[in-house]
Amino acid sequence: MSDLKIKDIVIVGGGTAGWMVAAGLSRLVNDKDINIRLIESEAIGTVGVGEATIPHINYYNRLLGLDENDFVKKTNATFKLGIEFVNWGKLGESYIHPFGDYGIPMEGLRFHHFWHRFKQTDPQSSVDDYCLQVLAAKEGKFQRPDMSYKNSPLKSITYAFQFDASLYAKFMREFSEARGVTRTEGKITDVQQDPETGHVKSVTLENGDIYAGDLFIDCSGFRGLLIEQTLKTGYEDWSAMLPCDRAVARASQSTGAPSPYTRATAKSAGWQWRIPLQSRVGNGHVYCSEYMSDDEALESLNADIDGPPISDPNFLRFKTGIRKKPWNKNVISLGLAAGFLEPLESTSIHLIQTAVARLMASFPDKNFAQSNIDYYNERTLLEYEQVRDFLILHYYATEREDTPFWQYCKNMEIPDTLKARIALYKDNARLYRHDNEIFGETSWFAVMHGQGILPKTYHPLANSLPENELKARMAQLKQVTEACLDQMPTHQSFIDEFCKANLQN
Ligand SMILES: Cc1cc2nc3c(=O)[nH]c(=O)nc-3n(C[C@H](O)[C@H](O)[C@H](O)COP(=O)(O)OP(=O)(O)OC[C@H]3O[C@@H](n4cnc5c(N)ncnc54)[C@H](O)[C@@H]3O)c2cc1C
Repeated sequence: MSDLKIKDIVIVGGGTAGWMVAAGLSRLVNDKDINIRLIESEAIGTVGVGEATIPHINYYNRLLGLDENDFVKKTNATFKLGIEFVNWGKLGESYIHPFGDYGIPMEGLRFHHFWHRFKQTDPQSSVDDYCLQVLAAKEGKFQRPDMSYKNSPLKSITYAFQFDASLYAKFMREFSEARGVTRTEGKITDVQQDPETGHVKSVTLENGDIYAGDLFIDCSGFRGLLIEQTLKTGYEDWSAMLPCDRAVARASQSTGAPSPYTRATAKSAGWQWRIPLQSRVGNGHVYCSEYMSDDEALESLNADIDGPPISDPNFLRFKTGIRKKPWNKNVISLGLAAGFLEPLESTSIHLIQTAVARLMASFPDKNFAQSNIDYYNERTLLEYEQVRDFLILHYYATEREDTPFWQYCKNMEIPDTLKARIALYKDNARLYRHDNEIFGETSWFAVMHGQGILPKTYHPLANSLPENELKARMAQLKQVTEACLDQMPTHQSFIDEFCKANLQN
């Protein structure tokens, strides 16, 4: 048995993916016989973006045992309660996709069924009034959940972070090196494979050094040095349904207190992000090269940045999709090497995190059982497809037809899985969370409702509450949410009190 044990793990790449997996493995693999080496090339560098996250990152931080205030300070981070989507359903309209729930379930049903019923008698009612995260985001307020309450929205505040990508990788690197991960600087110029099995045996650096391994984790970014350039795994292209294929990113000076949310503003052939950190604002324009040139994209980005730019524009090209086998032979690809889904819902870092969890669950021996690999690939593909569908919804559920790009999106062919979800919601407001997918009913509701999909009716059992009772409950929920909002400190004052970054460094 001991001959079959994986002893040398080689991680290729030191971007967010490489250092996240290094940190995760160094924390979880409690076996002194297993060596973890990470090879990265400063000359090649990292993609340099990837600054907004979703709340699941808190599980990773807890798993690593991080001190959150220290983490926030060292990555110049801010807190994030959701994403504001501007101009997606219609020009001039906006909504927030919050990380927390609207209202509370009643009579065993999700709140939105009752709200749809209530709106028939109170057409001015806004569902936002029942979600503390939405209200706090709009007012620039933030606090962590307060567990001293029994039944209060303050107890269940769910949040993520917006951080500096390079500082995050540095933070993860320090964590990993302190737990025994060996870092090797150098550019890999050659890869050796076993002539019989095709498994990767070793990699050679520019200076001639050779590093052998049993298990290789390809975190080399879009190039997919091992998974694609060496193993020719193949790529499933989803760009017909998510047609943006370029981005240009640029940081700007902050012009005020950081908002506790990310903004995604739809533009004529894509969308622009705004991610406020303690130190600066990250901006980027994601666009479709078929409808917009690089020069036009930069011009449009510059026009909509609200502070003076403080970095040169960083142009990036990508193709949305996934490797046909994210795990092939003894190579597991993670991060951009595994696939790409645009950052509209800030999901890429999360997908790295879940891949690390799956890798631990499927941790192989040198036999590399095919059933193990197949299971890993099947679950990874499913997870990517679920996120893909959610992203497509934002483009497809639109009334915009003002540019050829939006005409395309509104009329494009979408996956049957997404068609079925939209039909269910339209028919009777039903939403389901499948297979423990990342986005639950609240998220699907937020985007469908925010982008103008109206259900014909709601769950029939929402009629079981007498009208007066429904009115009273809705009034009470609204009042409790407002009272909670009043108690919350501003985002800036919360940061100042607990986790202000040292911006002199
Ligand atoms: C426009 C855009 C915006 C994004 N925004 C978000 C966001 O808001 N939220 C989010 O979660 N994700 C976002 N992402 C995704 C996120 O940036 C990535 O998932 C994350 O940075 C991981 O990148 P990576 O580590 O896989 O690749 P990279 O950062 O490209 O790192 C690759 C590493 O491989 C090394 N390498 C490559 N070739 C060699 C070689 N031959 N020899 C040695 N080393 C080598 C490089 O030096 C580098 O260290 C965004 C992506 C893009 C393109």
